[in-house]
Amino acid sequence: MTQTETVSQVHHLIGGEWKPASDGGTFESRDPHDGSLLAVVPKGTAEDGLAAVAAARNAFDNGPWPSMSPKERAKILHAVADEVDKQREELAQLETRDSGKTINQALHAEIPRVAHNLRFFADYVAMAANEAYPDGDLLSYVLYPPAGVVSAISPWNAPLMLATWKIAPALAFGNAAVLKPAPQTPLTAHRFAKLALEAGLPEGVLNVVHGFGGEAVAGPLTSDPRVDRITFTGSSVTGVKILQAAAVNHTPVSAEMGGKSANIVFADADLDIAVPMALRAIFGGNGQVCLAGSRLLVQNSIMNEFLARFTEEAAKLTVGDPMDPSTFMGPLIEQRHLDKVHGYVELAQREGGEIAIGGARLTDDGREKGFYYPPTVITGLTNDSRAAREEIFGPVETVLGFDTEQDALRIANDSPYGLAGMLFTQNLDRAHRMAARWRAGTVWINTFFERDLRLPFGGEGASGLGREGGQYSRDFFTEPRAVTVRLHG
Ligand code: NAD
Repeated sequence: MTQTETVSQVHHLIGGEWKPASDGGTFESRDPHDGSLLAVVPKGTAEDGLAAVAAARNAFDNGPWPSMSPKERAKILHAVADEVDKQREELAQLETRDSGKTINQALHAEIPRVAHNLRFFADYVAMAANEAYPDGDLLSYVLYPPAGVVSAISPWNAPLMLATWKIAPALAFGNAAVLKPAPQTPLTAHRFAKLALEAGLPEGVLNVVHGFGGEAVAGPLTSDPRVDRITFTGSSVTGVKILQAAAVNHTPVSAEMGGKSANIVFADADLDIAVPMALRAIFGGNGQVCLAGSRLLVQNSIMNEFLARFTEEAAKLTVGDPMDPSTFMGPLIEQRHLDKVHGYVELAQREGGEIAIGGARLTDDGREKGFYYPPTVITGLTNDSRAAREEIFGPVETVLGFDTEQDALRIANDSPYGLAGMLFTQNLDRAHRMAARWRAGTVWINTFFERDLRLPFGGEGASGLGREGGQYSRDFFTEPRAVTVRLHG
């Protein structure tokens, strides 16, 4: 695939107009593969955040979008999805260069999912059933009017896929939105906003501001009383700050945060399925995946056999230029993150862990300018070590042993996080028993990462607050209203 020229100037989109930061400030977006400059981006100010919230408020209060029928909105969102399909290659290349994810992942999984997010929620709203409760001469029913202005704050690890996981339901239910993408990956949000306008989305319904959290551009997105909902995906530390800011105006928050998910392999598992899936669960996307199976729990009776196969296969995974379709793992997102990941590997060693493979930055074979880190497998730790408890968010697998089903479940549930769990066994009684007692928002049995957008998505504990998907998104992005009428005579 040829690389497109992406060095460009990104702007905020506020009320249908492309704008620089109010004080003219900028920052750079660089390619994690070789450090080359991709774009100059407005470093949004609190003033920019306020302007975007005002534009969304105006579009919601005075524009046509909230009162259009769901079918009319669906037509426009389908047109946006069609445009995403048409620009799939270009969007995928932008995503790969901005984030370091492989072109295969961007082209065949994430950008198609962007279009699916849009079509799914457009159709879901247009075809949703509704409740009515006739009771003698009383008739009660439920209305689901849009909540109003939605702030959507997204991370860098699956930039446009996660941004549209928020934007699609927010808009489909009739809200106006302000999106703030992560500063590491602004490019696809910019391109998406452009194509959405061209596809007919009314001005002001989607606003995009770029920059950083805290007091800067993201401040008003979480603390302004004109915001009715905040949907956030990112780290648990940032999530707490957002919840605190939102509490002042009692603004509801949906927070999808970090994870340290257990992947449990029983002795009766089919290892031809479990080994490749366990590899993809931690090394796919470089382990920079909230759902990653980053605590691998293996039944002690097969530990040696499993580890031998797992490490042999992990060592074969290709790590290199993410634009090369044969690459399995690209670079980590940035130097700071590479330092964090490697810091955890050093910590694991101090905690008594042994490195089975990996454990040092890769700087050869054209990888000298990028943030490359190999598949790393650590054994010999216990579940109370920090490396086994904290989210590393990199290609680092912590392998722990267990003897019994009770043991496995206890270790899986002994975590501050509760996002997901994976289980490989041929004993389906056991699988269902464990799923019922697993403290996690999603449990996969003999598979992983399968997503049906009708299902609730979210986590327990430090992994999140609330659920999104299907009717769960409706509950969050609307303000349900009960209506009761007495029929006289
Ligand atoms: P992050 O928390 O650093 O940043 C996420 C977003 O929040 C960015 O847009 C950032 O600019 C913004 N932000 C930062 N401080 C803010 C503040 N005070 N107020 C408002 N906004 C602020 O997270 P990240 O490093 O971009 O992403 C990685 C994290 O995201 C990991 O912990 C990962 O597990 C999590 N994640 C969770 C899910 C999920 O669905 N549960 C999905 C993907 C990633």
